[in-house]
Amino acid sequence: MSDSAQDLPGIVVTGASGRMGQMLIETIAASDKARLVGAVERSGHAWVGQDIGAAMGGADMGIVVTDDALEAFAKAQAVIDFTAPAATVEFAALAAQARAVHVIGTTGMSAEDLAALGRAAHHAVIVRAGNMSLGVNLLTQLTKKVAAALDDDYDIEIIESHHNRKVDAPSGTALMLGEAAAEGRGVSLEAVSDRGRDGITGARKRGDIGFVAVRGGDIIGEHDVLFAGTGERITLRHVASDRSVFARGALKAALWGQGKKPGEYDMLDVLGL
Ligand code: NAP
Repeated sequence: MSDSAQDLPGIVVTGASGRMGQMLIETIAASDKARLVGAVERSGHAWVGQDIGAAMGGADMGIVVTDDALEAFAKAQAVIDFTAPAATVEFAALAAQARAVHVIGTTGMSAEDLAALGRAAHHAVIVRAGNMSLGVNLLTQLTKKVAAALDDDYDIEIIESHHNRKVDAPSGTALMLGEAAAEGRGVSLEAVSDRGRDGITGARKRGDIGFVAVRGGDIIGEHDVLFAGTGERITLRHVASDRSVFARGALKAALWGQGKKPGEYDMLDVLGL
């Protein structure tokens, strides 16, 4: 590696064997703005101790997968983390200890998990978004504008579709879009959110924001925001056709976070939207 490559921000990927983990490893390895300095998996995982490139079925990358997150984070300027809520809360404390920027793509976090992230953000930069793509972050802004322009004669429904192995619903992106719609209408999402209709539910409540989750096959991520009025419907739609959009967004966030003040940020900050 040349001296200039050594100067690039070093990045660790957690959940390295996951769908997003592997996409992140490939994206960082191909980047000329950052270098991969670590790959973390949980203790007992078959990949621990193996070279990450070989474990992914390719050539060696000179990085051995480790289950010692703190040791890996200590060598890094940023950690990119698309894992699970319990793991992400643990990683946040370790990333703060290592003063590394923590980019979080993990979804399905509880209020308690978010409070723990808030505590870690006193010491380090956290960039968290339920969706790291430019398109979806633009869509949140459009959703806010349309929701502000239309009154509650227009029923808002957020319809999301994902692959059959996704474990949380609604998706983090659907919730981001719901928050944006609620903000546009000047209400709290918690007060108007309608999730999981089943049975005799009664008529739709005026002003509610409904969520519908479709799960099937290998769908990467599709989101529709429907504004249904009398005699017309408007749909704002985003389709992700390749996971690399999330990985590129996460890498951008990791680079953007360098030198920022400790605190919590999102992709709107990164993209300047
Ligand atoms: P996945 O394929 O299941 O990968 C998750 C990875 O995290 C696996 O390697 C898993 O290891 C690891 N992991 C889980 N729990 C762990 C723990 N307690 N300690 C250490 N490692 C742990 O899932 P994915 O599709 O990549 O998605 C991961 C997360 O990112 C999900 O929350 C998903 O919703 C989110 N996501 C966000 C965006 C965005 O743009 N923000 C985009 C796509 C996905 P094991 O295999 O050992 O369990």
